[in-house]
Amino acid sequence: MISILGLLACLSLAAQTASTSTVAITAHRGYWKGNAANSIDALKKAQDFGFWGSEFDVHLTSDGVAVVNHDDTIGGVAIHDNPLSALADVRLGNGEKVPTLDEYLAQGEKSDKTVLVLEIKIQSSVDRTIELTKKCISALKEHGLYDPQRVIFISFSYDACKFLAQEAPEFTNQYLSGKKAPSEVYADGINGLDYHYSNFQNHPEWVKEAHDLGMSVNVWTVDKPEVIQEMIGLGVDCITTNAPELVRELLNGAETVIK
Ligand code: MG
Repeated sequence: MISILGLLACLSLAAQTASTSTVAITAHRGYWKGNAANSIDALKKAQDFGFWGSEFDVHLTSDGVAVVNHDDTIGGVAIHDNPLSALADVRLGNGEKVPTLDEYLAQGEKSDKTVLVLEIKIQSSVDRTIELTKKCISALKEHGLYDPQRVIFISFSYDACKFLAQEAPEFTNQYLSGKKAPSEVYADGINGLDYHYSNFQNHPEWVKEAHDLGMSVNVWTVDKPEVIQEMIGLGVDCITTNAPELVRELLNGAETVIK
């Protein structure tokens, strides 16, 4: 069974050796146009539209429940400092309540095509960030999603990435901050990059350097046509975007899909 990382590496190799290449599209916080970011319905729409990936963010409540949200505060409730019950009355823009990771993965299970791009958010301490990472692994196992073909991990927490490199080396594991050269990340056992596009504009050589090390390359959050084209030209493996339909149009069929 080829892993997602292996698949991306093969595609990268193909890109280097042939004039045609494909790029995966990840819907940033789901496909949330006319919807609510990080909602279960935004994940469902990303699945329905058949995008390669759907990204989402995970935090830990004070009573140890993983929930899906970008910021560490929602509806005036500081997630890290409050139990899940404090979120009971908070609603997203589309009327959904804040999803628990468990509820979110119940939708994730329903597509075996759209990869779940799970961002582990930095918590109030390294210990809490690692606790969250462990909870994510457990939840994925409970849902039958602990599979390198179904899930990849991303994080700004270098500690979380290093932990995953030890605990889940078969998974694609991409560091987000953009501050480190590929060789430095690789030396710590982390097998992928997911950097803001400005980092690759400043260091276009990092894409090839990463590929030469067998690392996958993802880029965020690319919404402007000229930047989308620039990143396609650099040969990234995946584009994370709030405009997945536009990226699809610009790729004009050169889109990575999971069959
Ligand atoms: Mg995110």
